[in-house]
Amino acid sequence: MDVGPSVQDTLALVYRLQTIDSEMAHITQEIETSGEALRKKEENLEGLAKLMESEKNEILRLGRDRRDREEELRTNEHIISENKKKNKELKHSREIQAYLAEMEFRRDEVERLQEEILRIMETQESLEKALKERESELAIRREETEALRATSEEENAGRLERIRGLEGEKAALTEQFPVPLFQQYSRLRQSHRNGLVVSRILNGTCEVCRMTLPPRTLTEVKKRQKIVPCLHCQRWLFMEEIPSRS
Ligand SMILES: [Zn+2]
Repeated sequence: MDVGPSVQDTLALVYRLQTIDSEMAHITQEIETSGEALRKKEENLEGLAKLMESEKNEILRLGRDRRDREEELRTNEHIISENKKKNKELKHSREIQAYLAEMEFRRDEVERLQEEILRIMETQESLEKALKERESELAIRREETEALRATSEEENAGRLERIRGLEGEKAALTEQFPVPLFQQYSRLRQSHRNGLVVSRILNGTCEVCRMTLPPRTLTEVKKRQKIVPCLHCQRWLFMEEIPSRS
């Protein structure tokens, strides 16, 4: 495309614009990444709090279970002691047999309930211990999350400040652009990978695709009469001024 006589000057502007855009995109990415990290911490915190909630409920449920079994245990012990009182009044062998069977059953029940209560108590104890550990873990994680939030906020304030500065620089720069060139740049920036439109020539190779450029292409670029795209990656080739000349 025709961009006037100073193709390289224009490309230098486009290259500068591209640098600004890339930096802004990079900073925006940093903001997103830091937001993502914070969200992850918050989710972990939430997950831990939920886990603790369900463990608390489990401890309560175990407490109810234990009370039920203790009640049952008392009932059985009461029946045993009542039966013992009636024991002496028994005369017939059938009554005695029934008594013995009942007593055996009740004693088994007592044993079973005692074992169950013991098991529940052990489970309660280990859950309570785990819960206590989680409580201190939660406190640590909460502190970490708050620290990260504070750091992120501070860093993001700096990042936004930098973006504002770059936006100002970009606005001043685009004013010097021919409108069609700016439009074309914006369009290519969307379609090219990494948003790179311009590529510097470094030691005869294209900086973006790293392919060696044919001498004919280099000659054309040096003529500075039109925009020459890289044969491989289609980026506009730009030859930077050699600093010693200025
Ligand atoms: Zn290339």
